[in-house]
Amino acid sequence: MAISERARRLKPSSTLAITAKAKAMRAEGIDVIGFGAGEPDFDTPDHIKAAAIEAINSGFTKYTAASGIPELKDAVAEKFKRDNGIEYAQSEVTIGCGAKHIIYNIFQVVCDPGDEVLIPAPFWVSYPEQVRLANGTPKIIETTDFKMSAEQFEAAITPKTKMLVLNSPCNPTGAVYSRGELEAIGEIALKHRILILSDECYEKILYDGNEHHSIGSFDKGLRELTLTVNAVSKTYSMTGWRIGYAGGPADYIKAIGTITSQSTSNPNSIAQKAAVAALESDYALVEEIVEEFDKRRRILVGALNECLKDDTPMPGGSFYYFPSISEFIDKTVGSVVVRTADDFCRILLEKARVAAVPGTDFGDSTRIRLSFATSEENIREGMRRIAECVGEAS
Ligand code: PLP
Repeated sequence: MAISERARRLKPSSTLAITAKAKAMRAEGIDVIGFGAGEPDFDTPDHIKAAAIEAINSGFTKYTAASGIPELKDAVAEKFKRDNGIEYAQSEVTIGCGAKHIIYNIFQVVCDPGDEVLIPAPFWVSYPEQVRLANGTPKIIETTDFKMSAEQFEAAITPKTKMLVLNSPCNPTGAVYSRGELEAIGEIALKHRILILSDECYEKILYDGNEHHSIGSFDKGLRELTLTVNAVSKTYSMTGWRIGYAGGPADYIKAIGTITSQSTSNPNSIAQKAAVAALESDYALVEEIVEEFDKRRRILVGALNECLKDDTPMPGGSFYYFPSISEFIDKTVGSVVVRTADDFCRILLEKARVAAVPGTDFGDSTRIRLSFATSEENIREGMRRIAECVGEAS
């Protein structure tokens, strides 16, 4: 086979795989309820679409600067200042084709062979794979109650440690770090000069009075160590538009732009104009959506706690729940013996026609991830099906 070892080692995204499988079953006429997708089920707001249409009609349809148009960089800088308390100059902001692309480029920029990147578990599926693609070594940190303490962080540091990945609110757990927890982690990063990738894609999706804090805003030292990543994808229901961005020290930002210039050339010109309109929007719009997510969160968590006999607490942010299926390990569900979350999800899909993602690629094979970015009606019916399916476990 002529395929490189690097490509052969790469795991496909399990979240995209389950979503594709559910779609294929639906195309065959099978009525599947999907809890796999990591995207809001709301449409992109009209004023954002209008900005894109205006971009097309005015001929804004050509290559742009690799790292993004100045107008969008300014809107991003303004957003970081307004919402996150970090002042970035235009040269300290870069635009990419979604947060996933930005994060990919960051690892390319930071990792030399053998460099270690610390990733607290559970984690978003793409971090370890992207670190490996950059010839770095992902080093997983086991956590307590879904959050890494400063002590756990310090214990994992070696002379090869280059970077820590933080993701609050977290996909898949919904865990939200408090300011105090982040300050303690920041102190360790400063002491050992460890770079931080702070993935803040879900910053606006918070419940129960939780607040979002950006570690790069705490002091000058942390600002110099942190690359703050975000996107319009989750906040504005714009997952398909592919616009993400980062703020950080100019040298790193410039290197990220150079990688973009040699890979995608630039993010889509039309989507960049739409992202400007998104970042200038009133947050009332997002708040309404979060209220809706909150209602769904309560229904889904209440039902799952009961049928999975589990007490994983409610997620404090994001639109995911990551319950344990330990109760069913080594038991027979739908005439199959469950050994891991992969078995459990296969049974759910085949017997209950419910798509959920196994926790395995998120770093925990005894849990499953369900997204509640789907209608209340789907949630109620999905929970009924799961309860019926696991009710026969023996
Ligand atoms: N970071 C996290 C934690 C995510 O969950 C996702 C998407 O699921 C991304 C980054 C990528 O976002 P985007 O769609 O902007 O590439």
